[in-house]
Amino acid sequence: MLVVEREPYRWFPHAGGRHAIPIDAGPGDTVLTACGEKAVLPRDGMPRLEHEPECAECDTRWRRQRGLPTREELLSGAIRRTCRAAGTAALSRRPVRTAGVG
Ligand SMILES: [Zn+2]
Repeated sequence: MLVVEREPYRWFPHAGGRHAIPIDAGPGDTVLTACGEKAVLPRDGMPRLEHEPECAECDTRWRRQRGLPTREELLSGAIRRTCRAAGTAALSRRPVRTAGVG
């Protein structure tokens, strides 16, 4: 059975950035963004997302609420994996015995 979890937030352009607001918020509502900013949603429809910078705090809180690794954790994990892979490659460089020689 396929279980699709509902996202807790959606993105909303606010104060020069793209912040996460509760998914159930509607026009005219006053909400708190995931990073704790107060925002009033327009009554005449939601504004379009443009190229505003994403709020890192909102992104982190959204990921934590969903049980997903944060971007920082993903990056540090990628670096650890790269180092581990490099170490493994170095250890595997043992002399190779060729059949019939030595
Ligand atoms: Zn935010």
